[in-house]
Amino acid sequence: MENYWNKEIECMPLEDMKKLQSERLVAQVKHVYDNVPYYKKLMDEKGVTPDDIKSVDDLHKLPFLTKADLRDAYPYGLLAKPLSDCVRIQSTSGTTGRRVVAFYTQHDIDLWEDCCARAIVAAGGTKDDVCQVCYGYGLFTGGPGLNGGSHKVGCLTLPMSSGNTERQIQFMQDLGSTIICCTPSYAAYIGETIKEMGISPDDIKLKAGIFGAEPWTEEMRREIEKSLGIKAYDIYGLTETSGPGVAFECCEQHGMHINEDNFIPEIIDPDTGEVLPEGSKGELVFTSITKEAFPLLRYRTRDICVLTREKCSCGRTLIRMSKPMGRSDDMMIIRGVNVFPSQIETVLIKQGYAPNYQIEVDRVNNTDTLDVYVEMSQEQFSDQIKDIQDKEKELVAAITQMLGIRPKVHLVSPKTIARSEGKAVRVIDKRKLHD
Ligand code: ADP
Ligand code: ZN
Repeated sequence: MENYWNKEIECMPLEDMKKLQSERLVAQVKHVYDNVPYYKKLMDEKGVTPDDIKSVDDLHKLPFLTKADLRDAYPYGLLAKPLSDCVRIQSTSGTTGRRVVAFYTQHDIDLWEDCCARAIVAAGGTKDDVCQVCYGYGLFTGGPGLNGGSHKVGCLTLPMSSGNTERQIQFMQDLGSTIICCTPSYAAYIGETIKEMGISPDDIKLKAGIFGAEPWTEEMRREIEKSLGIKAYDIYGLTETSGPGVAFECCEQHGMHINEDNFIPEIIDPDTGEVLPEGSKGELVFTSITKEAFPLLRYRTRDICVLTREKCSCGRTLIRMSKPMGRSDDMMIIRGVNVFPSQIETVLIKQGYAPNYQIEVDRVNNTDTLDVYVEMSQEQFSDQIKDIQDKEKELVAAITQMLGIRPKVHLVSPKTIARSEGKAVRVIDKRKLHD
């Protein structure tokens, strides 16, 4: 079966896509230059005018925008349309600092929902599906984005928002939900609760899940697929570029196709800003070529990943991005070694633990400390201290091998680590308190 929402675009030959992107880019640069004094100034400072941008090959001439610019220009400084043309505001979750607000015209909302519809259809969604959206609704883009996409596809949409997990499961059973959309950490929690309620994955009708908004590992994917009896698809996006749906996974589950007709991706060296060739790992940068109200050009996401144009068996020609392994600011430097939370998650799940963990970093006597708190399941729990110590030692060895530095591991009783209904908070870096 062909699972495309817009085959013409999703399978467009590369040359045609470049042409489309170039036309849109040229018009967008002019729109921004004429309407956003903040960006015009950046262009003037760099000595670039709209006339210098004739195709996507000139993209590198434009200045970058960063989260700091968004904060500087808060709230209206990057707006490219009169407020009277805007119909919606959304905001970031504030995971890494002050919130950023984004504006949408009706045209922007339509394009965004269209991107989400592509993701739902790629996951096998049709108008016969019942789509339970348990991303948060409100300012956070997760709920509204997938809600709109689900409507477009014609799914029967359950706007559950996050939380009240038993009710989620009740509705899932009573109304026969076939697709679920939420953060992967919440999906894991729902899977855990289903098991505790004595419900088997065979008793529910779910077939697919669309999970994103936070980093998650392949190991976590397999856990969720097992506990919910589904195929789990990744979806990526950020408020600054509209929200979820910038990129989505197909049946291959091997990287996310970027909706290049709306967003031109680049990978740069985060230190020098130099554009890196395809296949290199670096910071992802996006240029929105279709958004009207909040069209960021060369926006630095701080997400680290790899792009590939390798042919995908699903037939889509859209470029693919690898799972971001975390943002550049999620990366912890501990005793001089770069550590991503996802590396620790990989080890824990491989060793048979559920993804309920917290990482604490501190500095004691000028030395960084790394403490990993890991929850045991009822079955793993033991009242023999020796058993627990042995298990802790095993984990210390496995994590040391992965990271090259030695953590302290604390196995804690079942149900003692807070579950997440939205984006999970995995790291507490106490060093920041001392700075
Ligand atoms: P905040 O920056 O406050 O969390 P957003 O809600 O806009 O605001 O989150 C966007 C960020 O979420 C992205 O830049 C990325 O770091 C992360 N993210 C979104 N989707 C994914 C995904 N599928 N995998 C990994 N990280 C993701
Ligand atoms: Zn594909």
